[in-house]
Parts: sequence; C-alpha cells; structure tokens
Amino acid sequence: MGLTGLEIFKQLPKKNCKECGQPTCLAFAMQLAAGKAALDACPYVSDAAREVLDSASAPPVALVKIGVGEKAFEIGNETVMFRHDKRFEHPTGIAIQVSDKMSADEVKAKVDKVNKLVFDRVGQIHEVNMVAVANDSGDAVKFADTVKLVQDNTAYPLLLISGDAAAMEKALEVAGANKPVVYAATADNYEAMVGLAKKYEAPLVVKGTDLNSLAETVEKVVGLGYKNLILDSGARELSKVIADQTQIRRQALKLFRPLGYPTIAFANNDDPIMESLYASTFVAKYAGIVVVNSAEPEHILPVITLRLNIYTDPQKPIAVETKIYEILEPGPDAPVLITTNFSLSYFNVAGDTEASRMPAYIIPVDTDGISVLTAWAAGKFSPETIAATIKKLGIMDKVNHNKIIIPGGVAVLSGQTAELSGCEVLVGPRDSAGLNTFFKQQWNQ
Ligand code: SF4
Repeated sequence: MGLTGLEIFKQLPKKNCKECGQPTCLAFAMQLAAGKAALDACPYVSDAAREVLDSASAPPVALVKIGVGEKAFEIGNETVMFRHDKRFEHPTGIAIQVSDKMSADEVKAKVDKVNKLVFDRVGQIHEVNMVAVANDSGDAVKFADTVKLVQDNTAYPLLLISGDAAAMEKALEVAGANKPVVYAATADNYEAMVGLAKKYEAPLVVKGTDLNSLAETVEKVVGLGYKNLILDSGARELSKVIADQTQIRRQALKLFRPLGYPTIAFANNDDPIMESLYASTFVAKYAGIVVVNSAEPEHILPVITLRLNIYTDPQKPIAVETKIYEILEPGPDAPVLITTNFSLSYFNVAGDTEASRMPAYIIPVDTDGISVLTAWAAGKFSPETIAATIKKLGIMDKVNHNKIIIPGGVAVLSGQTAELSGCEVLVGPRDSAGLNTFFKQQWNQ
C-alpha cells in the first residue's frame, strides 16, 4: 500500500547532508518507509516530491473526527479488509435518530433515554455515540428548534439530516460550533453543502445514487478543497449496502482516493429486532457510523456487544490493572485470591466471589492479559511473578493471616510459591464457580 524505501528515495534530494539525522538519503528513505521518521525532517524536499510522498503516505481510509469535547470520537484510518489481518482501528459510531416531526416532549424523552444507554462490560464502559436529527418536517425553523433542543439535552455529537441547504444553514447556526456531521452533499446540492461544512469545519457526508455517482461527487467536493468526508452510497437494501460497503473498503485499500473515506449506513427499521440485525451487520461490514431509531437498551446492547467483539484487537487481550481489588468491603481476615489480569479471569473470580457473599481481596498478576493456564504455560503466571506481585502490592500487610489462594488449575505452583512468597498457599477450585463451596469448606483460618 505505502511506497517502498527505494520509491521514496527516488523523490529525495540525494544530498546526503545528514541534516535529517540519518547518514544518507537512502537511510532516511528506509526510515520513512518503516514509519520511523517524518518527511519534515528533511528541509530540502521539493514541493512536487512532498505532494507525491504526502499523498502516498495518507491512510487508505481517511481519519474523520466527529464532535468536540469528551464525547468526540474518530472513525476511519482503517487499513485492512479483515480484522484478523491486523485489527480494525476505530469502532463504528452508533447514532440514534430523532425526527423534527416529534413533539418537544417526545424528543426530550428519547434523548434522555439515549443518555442512559451506558453499559459496563468486562470493566469497560460502552455507550452510543451520536444523536441524529432528521428534517422530516421539511421546515427549516422546526429543524433548527429540534437541533437546539437535542443539543441542550445531550453531550453526544449530532448528525444533521437534511437535503435542504437552507435548513442545514439554520441548524448549523445553532449547532455548528460543536462540529456536527452534515448529511448530505449530493450531485444536486454539493456546492452549497460544501460551503456550509467548510464554514463550520464539520464532517460532510457525500451521498451518491451508486458507487460511480458517489465517486464522481466526491471528486467534485474535493475539487472545491474539502476532504473532511464520510461516504453514503445511497443503497438501503441490505444486500446492496453490504456489497457497497465491501467495495468501498476494497477500493480504498487499493488507494482509489475518491472512496478513501469512512462510511455511514442506515439501519432504521420499524421492526426493532430487524433494525438491530441490520445495524450489527453494518458494524461487521465496515460502517463508520450506523444510524438506528430504537433507543431501547435491549435493542442497542447486542449491537454494542458485537461492536466490542469486532473492534477488539485480536493480538491484545483485554486486561485489568494489576492492583488490590476489594470485594464486599473485606476486613483483615478476608481471603486473598490470586488470578491473572486477563479481564475474563478477573471478572469471573470477582463475580463468583461476590455471589458467594464472601468479602475478599483479589490480586490479578500481570500476565499481559492472558488467562491462567495459558499464562502458566507461557511462564507468565509463575511462583516468581505471584510472589513479586504480592510483595509489590503489599497485600499481606492488609490481612491478619498468611494465606493466599491460587487457582486449582495451577496447583503445581503451590510449593515453590509458598517458598518464594513466605505465604501458606491454599489451592482453590479449578473453576471460579467452585469458590462458594471452597469458601464454605476450606476458608476456616
Ligand atoms: Fe538527504 Fe534530506 Fe537527509 Fe539531507 S536531510 S541526508 S538531503 S534526506
């Protein structure tokens, strides 16, 4: 995808002056190709060469920042077709749509629901990302009023949906400072919409009627000097949306620049179950933003859960911080449970300890986020790492006994762990589901 070191070298001045910090231009080119140097380090690159190198080093899918403040988020910057090739970079933004045909009370009630769509899963907070406001009334004043009402009641970035440039202008007078997404520039209105998006530096959706018309309109928009774009092929039928999303990603990765932007997909459906299914499909198939109607947790949580799975880096297990975790306000006589910092291991132990109503301390040893048996096999969950963690965290200073409990699957570690830590080592159940019985039968210090 990017240029090779030799291709970059051809564009450099070949003075070998060392001012870039490299001994030769060729060495600098190799560093650039590896992403370990910035072109600006060479003061002698010509404008023509800079243009070639800048454009070649641009990501296949442009990065687009949406909104301002703590709820701002990014989409795009993707580099692969399939997650297992590397990873997907920026999770799909989920937008819940309201209409300017709804009453003020209805809009406010729905926005309140959106604000509450916050889920705690394996120690991470997951939420939706945007509120979309549709100009279904066709009335510019109503649209602007609804946009203001929504903006006053949520911190989430907005997606403004209107094909009418005059209505969009009024809405942007209200919300432009927060950089909402402007939807949409078409072959008919792109000049006016680009003017508005430029004025507020807001991301602009370019909408086509098919991929060819989309690429043509994008080129016209870029010709007007605006590149902060999101793409909508115009398709609404499920199979066509999937085909277009896939083709856009494929062409973007081939560096076909008119399609090198993140996308938006509309899953809106009167049947909320179908809507969740459509939205989940679009999350899996490349949508940068997916728009839905439902603000009900039972319809949104499955989409968020799928998003979490798809956008988790497959090479990087989810880990919890290695520190002392207190379950149910433990006192000095509470048991000390040892596990790994793989999130699921920790949350299983924490959940089963809490369910057994046993106040306890949990110590997740840093195993780079891998689970008990895998970490043991890799030498990361060992007597040395357990003893070092106990010592570092000072957990035994908090209790009036000298016992630690290790998972039953690594009972073989007990002897040496006792030796290195100076603790009495109890072997717990192989599965944390057995903790309740274990506490009843064996926690009698
Ligand atoms: Fe070559 Fe530029 Fe580095 Fe000088 S500063 S060695 S010209 S790449």
